[in-house]
Amino acid sequence: MSALITYKGVEVHQADQIVLHDINVSVESGEMVYLLGKVGSGKSTFMKTLYGALPTVAGEANVLGYDMLRIRRRQLPYLRRRMGIIFQDYKLLTDRSVEENLLFVLRATGWKDKTLMRNHVLEMLRQVGMETKAYKRPYELSGGEQQRVVIARALLNSPEMILADEPTGNLDAETGKEIMDLLYAISQAGITVLMSTHNQQWPEQYPGRRWLFEGGEIRE
Ligand code: ADP
Ligand code: MG
Repeated sequence: MSALITYKGVEVHQADQIVLHDINVSVESGEMVYLLGKVGSGKSTFMKTLYGALPTVAGEANVLGYDMLRIRRRQLPYLRRRMGIIFQDYKLLTDRSVEENLLFVLRATGWKDKTLMRNHVLEMLRQVGMETKAYKRPYELSGGEQQRVVIARALLNSPEMILADEPTGNLDAETGKEIMDLLYAISQAGITVLMSTHNQQWPEQYPGRRWLFEGGEIRE
């Protein structure tokens, strides 16, 4: 049972509309999976079910060992701690430095030792090439730099899986490529990466599985 995600006959609703039906997918550890398809085809909806922001309403859904049809609200933080979530629009806290943004996550997830926390934050920032900008506020950074910080933040608690919803959507081609280099290296290191994108080049340049969202279904 090495699958991180197993969906069988899953259905997902948004408001009173069925967005996805009869979803049958399985993802193993270390896989790179592209979520492709038109705007409104359900890519973000699918990702939301993986971290329990939307319920799955039929079939069987298992994510990191949790039964997503029966998971309790109080269990969600434990599930989410084991995944790193990256959005197109960064979602960094603007009233504090890069370092404080990452320390905030460590405090929220039970870290106590201040020296250990600081060293860990700087090490994560080093991995994404941002260690010299730890003291900066997010608005002092370029989009690409902010997304690097978001990736560092996503890696803080050694996730088994990264979910990236259009991580390069707001970036120019060159900067997008730098972000893809990071995400691809993460998947090569054995961490599963699921990312949605409208950029057809990424699956060519950074090979992975391709899921096409169409007509409420996923075709591989
Ligand atoms: P994608 O990420 O592929 O662009 P979405 O998952 O955002 O697609 O949207 C899939 C469908 O769900 C669309 O029909 C969209 O209008 C609907 N939808 C998305 N978010 C909401 C929401 N918060 N409330 C109601 N419907 C939504
Ligand atoms: Mg979307």
